[in-house]
Amino acid sequence: MQTNTALQTPPIVDETQPTPNGFDALNLIDPICRAVRDEEYTNPTPIQMQAVPHLLEGRDLLGCAQTGTGKTAAFALPILQRLQESNQPAGPKGVRSLILTPTRELAVQISESLDVYGRYMNLKQTVVYGGVRQEKQVKALRRGVDILVATPGRLLDLYNQKCFHLDKVEIFVLDEADRMLDMGFLPDVKKIHSKISKNSQAMLFSATMPKEIQHLTQSFLKDPVKIEVAPPSTTVEKIDQRVLFVDRENKNALLKSMLEDATIERALIFARTKHGANKIVKNLSKSKIKADAIHGNKSQSARIDALNKFKTGKVRVLVATDIASRGIDVDGITHVINYELPNEPESYVHRIGRTARAGATGMALSLCDLGELGYLKRIEQATNKTVAVEADHIYHSESIASKRGRSFGSKPKSTQRKRNFGYRPASGKNSRPAARNGRPQRGNAQRSRRTAGNS
Ligand code: AMP
Repeated sequence: MQTNTALQTPPIVDETQPTPNGFDALNLIDPICRAVRDEEYTNPTPIQMQAVPHLLEGRDLLGCAQTGTGKTAAFALPILQRLQESNQPAGPKGVRSLILTPTRELAVQISESLDVYGRYMNLKQTVVYGGVRQEKQVKALRRGVDILVATPGRLLDLYNQKCFHLDKVEIFVLDEADRMLDMGFLPDVKKIHSKISKNSQAMLFSATMPKEIQHLTQSFLKDPVKIEVAPPSTTVEKIDQRVLFVDRENKNALLKSMLEDATIERALIFARTKHGANKIVKNLSKSKIKADAIHGNKSQSARIDALNKFKTGKVRVLVATDIASRGIDVDGITHVINYELPNEPESYVHRIGRTARAGATGMALSLCDLGELGYLKRIEQATNKTVAVEADHIYHSESIASKRGRSFGSKPKSTQRKRNFGYRPASGKNSRPAARNGRPQRGNAQRSRRTAGNS
């Protein structure tokens, strides 16, 4: 009988060889595999697993997916590989691959990802978007690029100025098509598409498929591979969601005491308006809590600067409005805090999806005053989930909590277990009285002043 030597002899490990990686099966070229290893990606995400082989073969693709699924690498890796292999020079004013995306933030993020994944290759890429001077963009386009990432308005503007041509596009990507529709960009997108050769490889990504987008896919794609990856609700599953009932006038104090919790390593705070976002930053800075705001009234360079500081950990707190946050792709956001609840459940799902990205877990804390109970109810109906109450803080309003309980028929349980939140009173537990008339009750008030003073 043969003995199973494999069980007795440890396998010989050749340390000069890279350790096996789930990406090995995708037939990616070595410079890409190395870049992916550098990023410490061990396995392709479902969309990468499904899309990459078809895209490498040159097929068109219709991807029903949103940010957070690994969508960018799913199209970026095959683009890099195909451009490297076909090795056609772009020539002056030429563009070999065009990626259209609706917002400047997304454009910058895609361009950064291309830099990362393409770091061991010699392909040239550039990004163009509106709201900044065009000179640098024009200069880069005149030289010709392998990959151009762009928002539609500025792209069309530069096209009309004859800064580049689209005759040589081999691969075309339309990213976030449904958002293009929402933002009124479809006419521009169609104009741009009409300049591109019908023989180029095309991909279209969209989180939802309204009728207009379905029509677009028919004119843009030839016999596409269709891939649909997990809808947002599955991302939401990994997020620990809590609601904190608080009188409106106490929100500010509650937020400050929450941010004293060191386990909140990187927090994205949502406000409903630009003005509201600025006010939050101002109030936090009074308590020496450094925060930046990102919204439509900020210049593009201020937005990029704020996002960079947040990404690199120089600033721990970023305050955003819904529009500005679209597509924020920052790893390691431990907490999303809804200073105000959004009036649309989709925005809630989108907001909290900024945490718990790429397999991590995360926490979403929503401050809810009396006027927002209706929003909470709609969110819970849409997500089919009751959000647990975090009552263990000195600003908890039992009166709001009880109204919420009634509107749901049965009163949902508060979270009674001990938590490590900074805003839990020192002697804590659940025996402390709730805030009343906008002020914490005696005893707690002293504690809260002490905490504020420490911050
Ligand atoms: P995206 O959906 O493209 O916005 O990607 C979301 C996040 O997932 C980004 O921070 C990527 O760096 C990360 N990511 C993409 N692919 C992988 C992977 N295979 N393993 C781990 N993280 C990934």
